[in-house]
Amino acid sequence: MSNFEKPSKPEDEYFVRQELERRKKWAQEQSAKMAVAEKDRLKQLHFMKCPKCGMDLSTIEFHGIKIDRCSSCSGTWFDAGEIEQLLSPQNSGMFGKVMSLFR
Ligand SMILES: [Zn+2]
Repeated sequence: MSNFEKPSKPEDEYFVRQELERRKKWAQEQSAKMAVAEKDRLKQLHFMKCPKCGMDLSTIEFHGIKIDRCSSCSGTWFDAGEIEQLLSPQNSGMFGKVMSLFR
């Protein structure tokens, strides 16, 4: 049996603890890498897909605002900040114009 498996002296215990700490750190790093890889995988899988029915979204650009619309269920999706931009007082009536595109 090696010293690693059966520490017999306080010095050995120190090294075993150090080794366990190193392995724990490695496992945490692996876990973080896997989380990043999983996030990438999910993005690849769902990018520009309708969150309701899973079909492709197509982008229509109107007055600088990119509107993603589902080719199947006609769900309409806005990126962060776009709804606020459409509903802002300086863009009065813009939201209605955008919606009339789809009527
Ligand atoms: Zn859809």
